[in-house]
Amino acid sequence: MNAATILKSKGRGVVTAAANKSLLDIAKLLVQHGIGCIVIVGNDDKIAGIVSERDLMHAIGQSGAKVLKEPVSDFMTKKVVTAREADTVDQLMSEMTTHRFRHMPVVERGRLIGLVSIGDLVKIHIADAEFESGAMRQYITSQPSVLFDQASRLRLPGGA
Ligand code: AMP
Repeated sequence: MNAATILKSKGRGVVTAAANKSLLDIAKLLVQHGIGCIVIVGNDDKIAGIVSERDLMHAIGQSGAKVLKEPVSDFMTKKVVTAREADTVDQLMSEMTTHRFRHMPVVERGRLIGLVSIGDLVKIHIADAEFESGAMRQYITSQPSVLFDQASRLRLPGGA
């Protein structure tokens, strides 16, 4: 499973904003879309930064609510770590763990084509774990009848 598979199921939409938007605009976008981060793009549609709810909380916690009027460009992370479609779930998980962030924009040929969050990865891990435990349960519960069938097959010819 890789980033392309995730995007196929969740869609390629990414909520973006321009760098001159205020932190209040960003907060409104986060609430409106029920998401945790916004990718900031330049006029050329290239990624200029990323801002998450954590950056907002940090800014307000340090300087008070007045920062909400300031442009997001002053608070966003400018060095954005991105993923490729071919990156596996394990690679994405490892990047997010190493860098301690929960979002990775997916970029192909310089274009933003989606975003993978830690929530998407956790969802996949839970689905995998449930599938494995279901298969295991099925295997274990099927064992007595398998043994019984074998015993019957062995017993019947001999007993005749
Ligand atoms: P998050 O855990 O995603 O809420 O973000 C924690 C911090 O990492 C914030 O300062 C974000 O701006 C930053 N951040 C989030 N995603 C990325 C990313 N893909 N590349 C670089 N920084 C990021």
